[in-house]
Amino acid sequence: MIRAALAPTVLGLSALVSCAGTEPSAPADAALASEPESVADAESAASDAAPVEPVEAKFDFSGELTQGGFIRGTVPAGTASASLGEQVLDIAPDGSFFAAFDRDSADSLPLTATLESGRILREDLSVSPREWQIQRVNVAKRPSGSSEAWWKRREPEWNAIQDARAKETGATGWTQDFIWPVKGRISGLFGRQRIYRGEPGSYHSGIDIAPGNGVPFVAPADGVVVLARTGFSLEGSLIIIDHGAGLNSAFLHASRIVVEEGQAVKQGDHIGNVGASGRATGPHLHWGLKWNAARLDPLLFTGPMD
Ligand SMILES: [Zn+2]
Repeated sequence: MIRAALAPTVLGLSALVSCAGTEPSAPADAALASEPESVADAESAASDAAPVEPVEAKFDFSGELTQGGFIRGTVPAGTASASLGEQVLDIAPDGSFFAAFDRDSADSLPLTATLESGRILREDLSVSPREWQIQRVNVAKRPSGSSEAWWKRREPEWNAIQDARAKETGATGWTQDFIWPVKGRISGLFGRQRIYRGEPGSYHSGIDIAPGNGVPFVAPADGVVVLARTGFSLEGSLIIIDHGAGLNSAFLHASRIVVEEGQAVKQGDHIGNVGASGRATGPHLHWGLKWNAARLDPLLFTGPMD
């Protein structure tokens, strides 16, 4: 009687585990192999089998599964390496990770873990599309400044920005809930784009906040300053903060920089003041967020301004 009741339970568990794509785990095997000789043995076999379910290896995460959004979570137990699409993830010693979706992300991306056993677990993430602010204008697109003279000036700036963004500082700001670097009127949303007589211009890569000239702004999360310099032709006075795990913030057009390269900052620390340096039509803070090559929407990190 008890055996008859036990067998389907064990088989049921076993079936559930293999449906989920995980290897049969030891307790289930042991329970199947054992020959309970008494009621007491049968009961202990059943209770030994019970904890099998939570062992199921899978990703655990939450966040904004949308273009410009991000997720945080933990990798399956026994993960040796993991990736989102082609991008390899940084995995913290406790198994936690950060991953994000570019403004133009495909609507489905594989989240993959390679276990130490060599087994591969894959979960396809649905990334919801956004309705970006698109403005169609009946003027020709401006020449994009690709002249040799322009690039001669721009190349070292470009290289400095790429080098700064490639720095790995071990910062852990990526685990925090981000705050607004400064509050004020939002004068430009992330992702908006002009189409010039059918030819798309580059989209707006950050969010613009216009609280007034000279207003201090702060670090939205902990990090390390990887760039803090004046004189960039487009960005003006520019600060880049690494938040770790491939995530970094850029702050453009400052009137004043009060941090130095290499300095560790805490969330809420004053880092600079709003200005109109570089290519800016008026004083504002442009805040851009990148995870590796993906450009992200800061609004999804902070929530709406209250
Ligand atoms: Zn901007």
